[in-house]
Amino acid sequence: MYADIHCHLDDLKDPAGAVLRAQQAGVLLILTNGLNFENNKKALELQSRFPSVKAALGLYPNDAVSISAAERAKVYQQIRDANPVAIGEIGLDYHHDASKQEEMKIVFSELLALAEELKKPVLIHSRKAEQDVLEVLESFNVRADLHCFGGSLKLAKKGIDAGHYFSIPTSVVRATHFQRLSQEVPVDRLLSETDAPWMSPDDEPNEPAKVVVGVKAMAEARQESLSELREQLFLNAKRFIGDE
Ligand SMILES: [Zn+2]
Repeated sequence: MYADIHCHLDDLKDPAGAVLRAQQAGVLLILTNGLNFENNKKALELQSRFPSVKAALGLYPNDAVSISAAERAKVYQQIRDANPVAIGEIGLDYHHDASKQEEMKIVFSELLALAEELKKPVLIHSRKAEQDVLEVLESFNVRADLHCFGGSLKLAKKGIDAGHYFSIPTSVVRATHFQRLSQEVPVDRLLSETDAPWMSPDDEPNEPAKVVVGVKAMAEARQESLSELREQLFLNAKRFIGDE
């Protein structure tokens, strides 16, 4: 059994077909992540249609700083009302909006406070902002997955010491950074993800079924048996969302 802890099903051409193909490949847990109010609604809709799909509701950092405080409050209320298994995708992205770092940090902190209050795990995006993400997280008692972590191994170690999880995308088949990260992270803190439709292991758009090739590459990087790592990653995913 496989788990895809981070993808965007609604951004795929054929979400229903992708869920079916994932099921056939043994991917029995798919956490689709919302980016904004409308996208969160679609994540909930997919969750209600497919037993293997769970919805994380979030507010993507770049979306967060392009809307008003009132609109942000509407998303926070949406999260409270829906009571999702996790909060994501949230985080900091200085690559696209370097001028809005302070505003982004405020929204990120508000969402972490909400996760702490609702006792939900969080899925975190960080781009050119890994250090700040780790610093902001220090003030909150939340279970966090640092998804597609692009920071240095030194920063990753800081995250490992702080108890965070790391999800490794399918691009690990060729990205040496993610192979190294797979080796560094303790096995009980590793998660598998696709970030579909992004981070594809091949030239086609990504989808949850392809988490299988990512896990295989992780097992090779760690020099561990595929079947053991696969089961461990599935258990980690269940523990992460609080479904043990
Ligand atoms: Zn994502």
